[in-house]
Amino acid sequence: MKITEILEKSKGETLFSIEILPPQKGKKINDLFDVLNPLMDFNPAFVDVTYHPEEMVYKRRPDGLIEEAPLRKRPGTVGISAAIKYKYNVETVPHMVCVGFTKEETEDALFSLYYQGIDNVMVLKGDSKDNLNIDKNNQHKYASELVEQVYNMNHGKFLHEETLNEMETDFCIGVAGYPEKHFEAPNLNADLKWLRNKVDLGADYIITQMFFDNKKYFDFVDKCRKIGITVPIIPGLKPIDAKYQLKSIPSRFFLELPEDLVKEVEKCSKVSDIKKVGEEWCIQQSKELKAAGVPSLHYYTMSKSDVVVNIAKAVL
Ligand code: FAD
Repeated sequence: MKITEILEKSKGETLFSIEILPPQKGKKINDLFDVLNPLMDFNPAFVDVTYHPEEMVYKRRPDGLIEEAPLRKRPGTVGISAAIKYKYNVETVPHMVCVGFTKEETEDALFSLYYQGIDNVMVLKGDSKDNLNIDKNNQHKYASELVEQVYNMNHGKFLHEETLNEMETDFCIGVAGYPEKHFEAPNLNADLKWLRNKVDLGADYIITQMFFDNKKYFDFVDKCRKIGITVPIIPGLKPIDAKYQLKSIPSRFFLELPEDLVKEVEKCSKVSDIKKVGEEWCIQQSKELKAAGVPSLHYYTMSKSDVVVNIAKAVL
């Protein structure tokens, strides 16, 4: 079922959804199921599965010199999405990214998803560095171009005219939005203009980047509505669970952490106390968002379940 249909069926009730990462290459899929099992008790409306291209790693050669080599550390998004869908009877949303993949590779992955009965895709530019060995002319630059590719497949239009067009896909398309602006955009209005472009080209709903101050989300939704973006806007939430995240989250995701949250985390000396602070902050955020009637509370689990389970117990 499409995410938009699930949201319509919920009739305004706030749903619960999660994002997980494929396991690192070489790890057992059961490790991922161990993360998912306790979360499934809360009946997530859908499970997003992130997508990861090759990245450059440094390897020592036999002669002692160091060389750079591409390695895909977390493959398997397509297969994992199908495995989760049929093991737990839950809708899955595989992510698809532009950076690191040719348009043909993406088309093939979309065909695999179609054959596996997956109804949804989350379309993204991808956050890996642009230094991969790939012909830039055969790779999408922006998520909007990939939205167009999926939209075209939904209308029986494929990359090459040799492809038989006896079927069309019917993917529901999600895209990302940034309450605190995407880091490459010169200002929030410019970023919103490009977000509107993704929706005009066929995106059905938006999931936001994480934020720690609900006002940022509410202001963002107001601004989107003012420029004619009418699709559902699902808030993305991440509980802080380690002290280093006070630095890594702002620098990686280009967003601000509220002073009160930072002060409380800094006071903690034990990991368990930090988790408690992050959990409590996220519970308060979630309760306020739920009271405001957001479509779903979408948690970035980073493939860890304990804190999100406690939040779900308190909020759902
Ligand atoms: P885009 O929509 O392409 O926008 C990128 C920038 O370009 C923005 O600044 C925008 O304003 C600007 N822009 C857009 N279109 C144009 C245009 N036509 N001309 C000029 N400027 C333009 N990364 C992964 O690698 N794998 C994942 O699974 C993944 N999942 C994510 C899930 C969510 C909910 C979010 C919020 C992010 C996720 N990311 C993931 C990270 C994401 O790939 C990065 O944030 C990336 O830098 C931007 O992706 P986007 O799809 O928002 O890009």
